[in-house]
Amino acid sequence: MIESGILLAGIETAASSGETFEVIAPATEAVIGKVGRGSAADIDAAVLAAREGFAEWSGLAPKDREAALLRAADIMAAEGESRYLDLLIDESGSTINKARFEINYTVDLLRTAAGEARRLYAETFPNDNPQRMSMVVRQPLGVVAIVSPYNAPLALLTKMAGFAVAAGNALVIKPSEETPLIALEFGKLLVEAGVPAHAINVIPGFGAECGGPLVEHPGIDGIAMTGSTETGKRIGAQGMQRMLRMQLELGGKSALLVLEDFEPAKAAAIAAAGMFNHAGQICMANSRVLVEQGIYAAFCDELKSACEKLPLGDQRDTATAYGPLINRRALEKIQSHQREALDKGATLLTGGDIHGGLVYQPTVLLDTPRDCQAWCRETFAPLMNVVAVADLDEAIAVANDSEYGLSAGVLTYNVQRGLKAARAIHSGSVHIGMHPFQSNALAPIGGFGLSGIGRSGGQYSTEEFTELKWISFELGD
Ligand code: NAD
Repeated sequence: MIESGILLAGIETAASSGETFEVIAPATEAVIGKVGRGSAADIDAAVLAAREGFAEWSGLAPKDREAALLRAADIMAAEGESRYLDLLIDESGSTINKARFEINYTVDLLRTAAGEARRLYAETFPNDNPQRMSMVVRQPLGVVAIVSPYNAPLALLTKMAGFAVAAGNALVIKPSEETPLIALEFGKLLVEAGVPAHAINVIPGFGAECGGPLVEHPGIDGIAMTGSTETGKRIGAQGMQRMLRMQLELGGKSALLVLEDFEPAKAAAIAAAGMFNHAGQICMANSRVLVEQGIYAAFCDELKSACEKLPLGDQRDTATAYGPLINRRALEKIQSHQREALDKGATLLTGGDIHGGLVYQPTVLLDTPRDCQAWCRETFAPLMNVVAVADLDEAIAVANDSEYGLSAGVLTYNVQRGLKAARAIHSGSVHIGMHPFQSNALAPIGGFGLSGIGRSGGQYSTEEFTELKWISFELGD
């Protein structure tokens, strides 16, 4: 049992109420920890501390900010396995492979963010009045509120926090109530690496009770949030009351287009990998697969057999494909989406049942009607919908029949058809020859439509976490 408080001004302390809440391991549903239960009073204290931390941190030379982030990356590279592997497996339900991927990606994100600390470029431009000069400077926002999700609790937190810190901001982090231990460890790592303690605050707690007072707080200057579209809409509306800069990375219903020149077995393997990683609890998972008529039957046969071969078992076994859903609510959600789709006429290709505990079988529905939740809302669980399409134009039209627009994949060897699809699909990224779940620390990750606003990664994060200012001066006669 791990016991922790909150991280206030970089120091672990009890929540002001003295209350704690339990951390549950999804694999066993047993209590594995207790953490401080943050509330409005803790948020007040954290924002105050962060304002102090901002003055110190933003005043440092860029090379000193870069050095601290490189130290954080080095610590993560050397000690990531011993500090985070068990937490990722036990607290968030990751397999050992996914946990290792997250740790390595976090190292990469921290190194990339370190580089951005020295690249707060802006420009000069010719002033129309020859007696005047103009320049543009880029400045950090101030105190950034970070609200993070449970599904990749280390990497996605780093993706927001690492780049915000690189740009010179101070942080108040409200991690998912499902995964506070990982976030507290991450906060401690930044302080250990040399980010001023006051600039790093991690306040565990619940959405409305702890996240609400944070995003409404008059002392914050920006919000970075990764989570569901429902929460994003709420936070977005609150942030707009103060015209805050906001980066909102939200849900998805990503399409994978399978065109008939692609091998059915290879397409099925890619579709299964893109959907069932981390039990489908991936924002970019290809939960809608649109298959050209010519290979539909062969693809479905291959997909059924690929799904039925996925090994589900011990999360610490490197062969295991995925672990449990995060909690009982997530289990009930997949069951209800599946039930509605079957009632309305979809058919079950494979799966459809609990494997054990909170682990759900890889499940594929064929011909899901478009008005079903399984088709048009995020299930965030191992549920894939497959439909046949007549041709590429229909595939594009069906892919775009979604309010979301996070990512997409197009399986084809035909450059013209692949690029035509890439240009026409309404989403923040499109990957040809791959499934939609792709990450890269430099890429602009983000969504169209209900998948969010803003972009994260490399220089695109720097743009989100800084303000531009035009400065001009009169030279005189
Ligand atoms: P969630 O929306 O339930 O919670 C996200 C965070 O918001 C949590 O920390 C939660 O406590 C907080 N929150 C909830 N209500 C709040 C409120 N009223 N005020 C302030 N904070 C509040 O999301 P989740 O279930 O933790 O994560 C899964 C979701 O995240 C999925 O929808 C997934 O698609 C999305 N996601 C998106 C991306 C992306 O890059 N676009 C990446 C990963 C996950």
